[in-house]
Amino acid sequence: MISSVLPTYNRAPLAFEKGEGSWMIEKDGRRFLDLGAGIAVNVLGHAHPALVTALTDQAQNLWHVSNLYEIPQQQKLADKLVSETFADTVFFTNSGTECCELAVKMARKYWFEKGEPAKTEIIGFEGAFHGRSTAGIAAAGNEKMTHGFGPLMPGFKHVPWGDLAALQAAITETTGAVILEPVQGEGGIRPMADADLKAVREICDAAGILLILDEVQCGVGRTGKLFAHEWAGIRPDIMMVAKGIGGGFPLGAVLATEEAASGMTAGTHGSTYGGNPLACAVGGAVLDIVAAPEFLAEVNRKAGLLRQKLEGLVAGYPDVFESVRGTGLMLGLKCTAANTDVLQAAYDQLLITVPAADNVIRLLPPLNISDDDINEAIARLSAAADAVQSQT
Ligand SMILES: *Cc1c(COP(=O)(O)O)cnc(C)c1O
Repeated sequence: MISSVLPTYNRAPLAFEKGEGSWMIEKDGRRFLDLGAGIAVNVLGHAHPALVTALTDQAQNLWHVSNLYEIPQQQKLADKLVSETFADTVFFTNSGTECCELAVKMARKYWFEKGEPAKTEIIGFEGAFHGRSTAGIAAAGNEKMTHGFGPLMPGFKHVPWGDLAALQAAITETTGAVILEPVQGEGGIRPMADADLKAVREICDAAGILLILDEVQCGVGRTGKLFAHEWAGIRPDIMMVAKGIGGGFPLGAVLATEEAASGMTAGTHGSTYGGNPLACAVGGAVLDIVAAPEFLAEVNRKAGLLRQKLEGLVAGYPDVFESVRGTGLMLGLKCTAANTDVLQAAYDQLLITVPAADNVIRLLPPLNISDDDINEAIARLSAAADAVQSQT
C-alpha cells in the first residue's frame, strides 16, 4: 500500500526534533553534527536568534497579504539585493525551481519584445540541476529526472560541463541564453574555473545572448563571496537564488538587470505566496548578517581550515576518499569507496552529510559553524572512514 506521504524520497530513518546552531537533536536524544544544513539552506544554522526574532515579530503582526498590495519587507529585501549585486530588479519566489520557470520566461519574453521571437533556445551544461518543475528538468536535461515525464518543454540543448568549444559550437540563430551553476551542486560539487566562467560571459557577449546563473545552491555566502560569480569578476543578466536566502524559511528570488527584465511588465508573471511578509522578514535578517564583509571573511577563514583538514583526511584514507573539491564551504569528498557507505558510516558517527552525483559526499555546513565544530566534524569523518576501511 502506498505511504500516506507520496513515496518520492528514500528517507533515512531519522526524525529530528530540535536544532541548535550546527547541531540537530534526534527524537531519541542523539545529537547530530549537521554538515548538510538542509542542503545548503540553514546558512546561519538552526534557531539563530536573529532569525527567530525576525520570524516571530513578523508573525505577531501580519503573515500574508498577497502581491495585490505593497509589501514593505519585500521592498526592503529587494533594495538590499539590488544594492549588493549586479541586479536592478528582483522577483520573489518560494523555491529554486520557480526561479527556473521565471528565468526561462524572462529570457524568452526578452527576445520576443526585441522582435526576435525565434531566439527561444537555452543552452545548459550536462550534470546540471535546476529543480523539479517541467522547465527545471528540461533545462537540466538529465535522463534520471526526465525519464517518463515527456513530452519535455522544448527549447533546451546541453553541452558537456566546462566544454567551452562545444558551447561556442552549439550557439545558433535561435539561441537566446545560456544557463549554468557556477558550482554544480547535485552534479557532484563541480566548480567552473573562474577563467572559464569569464570565457562563458565573453562567449555570450560576443553572440549577444543572455547569461542566466543558477546560484540556488552556491549563492548567499556559500563560496565566501555573497554570490559565487563574483570570484570570476563577471555579471550575469539573470540569476536564480533560493536555498540559503531564507535560512530555512521557503524563499527564492530571481535577480535581473533592467535590460534582461524589460519584457516583464505588469500582468506577465506572479505568485500568491512569493515574497510574502514572513518570508521577506526572515530573508532580510539573513542577508543583513551574511552580506557583511566581516561575516564573509570568516566564511573564507573557516573554509580554509575545513579544506586543509579534509586534505589531510583524504591523504590518510586513500581507500575511502579520492579527493576534495569545491570552494568555500561548498565542499565535496569524491569517494573511492561507495559514497552511500561513507554517508551511512557518517550517520553512525552522528554526522550529517549529503550525497551527490559522481560518487561524492557534500559538506555544506552552516556558514557560521564554529572552529570547534569543524574539528569535531573531522574527528567524526575520520571515525567513519575507519569504519568504511575496515569493511573493505
Ligand atoms: C536545489 C536547487 C534547485 C531547486 O530548488 P528547489 O527549491 O528545490 O526547487 C535549483 N537549482 C540548484 C542549483 C539547486 O541546488
